[in-house]
Amino acid sequence: MELIEIKCEHCGKDIHIYDSYVKEHMYCTIGCLESSSMDNTY
Ligand SMILES: [Zn+2]
Repeated sequence: MELIEIKCEHCGKDIHIYDSYVKEHMYCTIGCLESSSMDNTY
C-alpha cells in the first residue's frame, strides 16, 4: 500500500490517499463531491 497524490475532481486541490483507496472520481471534501454531482446533470 502506497500513499500517492491526486487532484480533487472538482476544485483541483491535492489529496493524499493510499493507492488501494483510489477510485475513478476523487474529491477532497463531501462538499466537493456534492457540488460536482450537482454540476454533472447529464
Ligand atoms: Zn475539492
